[in-house]
Amino acid sequence: MPGKDIKSMTFEELSAEVAALGEKAFRAGQLYQWMHRKLARGFHEMTNLPKTFRQTLSTQYEYTSHILVDRRISKLDGTEKYLFGLHDGNVVESVLMRYHFGNSVCISSQVGCRMGCRFCASTIGGLNRNLTPAEMLDQVYSIQRITGERVSHLVVMGTGEPLDNYDSLLRFLKLLSDENGLNLSQRNITVSTCGLPERIHSLADEQLQITLALSLHAPSQEKRKLLMPVAYKYDLRDVLDACRYYFDRTGRRITFEYSLVGGINDAPEDAAQLAKLLKGWNCHINLIPVNPIKERDYVQSDQRTILAFRSILEKNGMNVTVRREMGRDIAGACGQLRKGYIDSGNRSGESCPFPGSVLE
Ligand code: SAH
Repeated sequence: MPGKDIKSMTFEELSAEVAALGEKAFRAGQLYQWMHRKLARGFHEMTNLPKTFRQTLSTQYEYTSHILVDRRISKLDGTEKYLFGLHDGNVVESVLMRYHFGNSVCISSQVGCRMGCRFCASTIGGLNRNLTPAEMLDQVYSIQRITGERVSHLVVMGTGEPLDNYDSLLRFLKLLSDENGLNLSQRNITVSTCGLPERIHSLADEQLQITLALSLHAPSQEKRKLLMPVAYKYDLRDVLDACRYYFDRTGRRITFEYSLVGGINDAPEDAAQLAKLLKGWNCHINLIPVNPIKERDYVQSDQRTILAFRSILEKNGMNVTVRREMGRDIAGACGQLRKGYIDSGNRSGESCPFPGSVLE
């Protein structure tokens, strides 16, 4: 990329750049506002900046802006799926979900993923590269600009492992929730992780007000290993200790995600073991019927099994919801748009088939 990535800079960094260019201090405020509030697509739109300054900026800095490759709108529930092209030809998929409480966007944090979860397609081609803070912001900014509707909620649940791209994620979260930017409430932001204990500790120490969602998917260390290779690296006890630390430091209730995979982790005994494992936690359990991918022979649990699983958890006093799929008519699961694009010969790589979803 030519030049410095200006949209990924904090206001302080931007101010230092502006000062070094010999410009007046208030120009930094104007620039920041164009980028993060008015969501400008380039320096050319920043009409209250002198032309010479804009020219200097465009020669010295890189201004990211996504290309809209595809957009699909569900007739069933208004869910929208977007495929955005990045400057290097990679594509990322993002989803907009409309709820009674506002508009929620699901973003990708990496191009591909290296965590290897058995039921997830985004990991099949491995990690291609990390996204920059600007490239994460652009997913939200583009959707808000295109729809003209305010984005009020964010979930980092698209392709990639956000805590594997930690520094960029943190910068992204701070920029997105900055009061001089889109000012998204941190309480409306959820970051989902497969569970990297050191990173969860670091995130806890930042004391942000975001929700941490842990992809648990199994009630024991042994069973977790069957589904998530990351469990060979980190013991479940350490992962849960890190989550406990997160709760203690931030006061934010943890969400545990549990993808129900037919015949693997959906038995009544699994539910009982899960209830025991999480006993005493102030938490929320989100059951996700697995979305089968063609590369693996995992199947979805039937409806009765899902309801029985939920009911065991409820009887044990757990707070639990089952996720339902949204936008089924528009390449159903998240990542399929990108995958279709790639499979049709545009690029190599894989993506996550996670459904654009809603809590019941
Ligand atoms: N790397 C992050 C974000 C991944 S996507 C994480 O691991 O949490 C968000 C959620 O979707 C995770 O819980 C992930 O395990 C789950 N998921 C991925 N593929 C899925 C599939 N095919 N069916 C159901 N859930 C899936």
